[in-house]
Amino acid sequence: MPIKIAIHGAAGRMGRSLVRVVHEVQDAELVGAVDHGEAVGKDAGVLAGLDPLGVTVTSDAREGIAQADVVIDFTLPKATAGLLPLVEESGAKLVIGTTGLSDETNAAIAALAKERGVVYAPNYSQGVTALFYLAERAAELMGPAFDAEIFEMHHRHKVDAPSGTAVKLLEVVARAKGVDPKKDRVCGREGQVGARTDAEIGVMTLRGGDVVGEHTLYLSGYGERLELTHRATDRMIFARGAVRAALWVAGKGPGLYDMFDVMGISR
Ligand code: NAD
Repeated sequence: MPIKIAIHGAAGRMGRSLVRVVHEVQDAELVGAVDHGEAVGKDAGVLAGLDPLGVTVTSDAREGIAQADVVIDFTLPKATAGLLPLVEESGAKLVIGTTGLSDETNAAIAALAKERGVVYAPNYSQGVTALFYLAERAAELMGPAFDAEIFEMHHRHKVDAPSGTAVKLLEVVARAKGVDPKKDRVCGREGQVGARTDAEIGVMTLRGGDVVGEHTLYLSGYGERLELTHRATDRMIFARGAVRAALWVAGKGPGLYDMFDVMGISR
């Protein structure tokens, strides 16, 4: 039996990619599509550039997710927050891709994950998951003498900054360096800010054009610098990873999982 999937944000850039991947994958079946605005009432397949799939986009999230084993959410932080009680009620499992979530929403996600499987990854690409792993190992190996700084660039439409991926990269590097990912982070620099401290990790954001996503960790010492870069050129990589996560979590019990769990990377 294929895993029944509903997509929250089905008419968005990611939502349409997800519809295509769910359609491609034999073990998955699209049973619901939720969005709002002009997309409502249209066939989710047609919106995604496919033949009609017989799944109509609805603005009623409760109805849209009713049949789903797993809901995949790529929307806006407010919409994700609103979805959580409905998922709790429906009994579905959840894969969240939306970034820029508030601490309150993160706490609500953690509470839901006590009841059922939830995957939350700021970046569902396999390459980025490897970057997180390698960045943590590299920061450990190079030690405190190497300054960590992060660069990220995305397309001109992205509304949150720094990217969720940059924040996660910062967290893994902060863990390896034994510094605080919130207190010691410096997002952009301007004016007489003084020399950098040993603990701080700078995060610099660029926005423009159609850049799908680029992240670099710099570990800079005296006389040498290590750079680890990931470049995404096609957003289908996130959709493929999110659908892989959905199929994986369908068979899991309660817990808050990430792509390390999905890809079987031990910590
Ligand atoms: P988008 O603006 O193209 O799509 C978002 C969709 O959500 C839109 O169609 C919008 O109408 C819909 N939406 C908003 N509020 C809604 C509501 N209350 N109910 C139903 N639908 C609603 O954006 P996008 O580029 O697809 O990105 C969506 C999110 O996914 C962003 O937070 C982005 O940062 C994140 N993202 C994450 C990853 C990852 O791998 N985790 C990858 C790419 C994008």
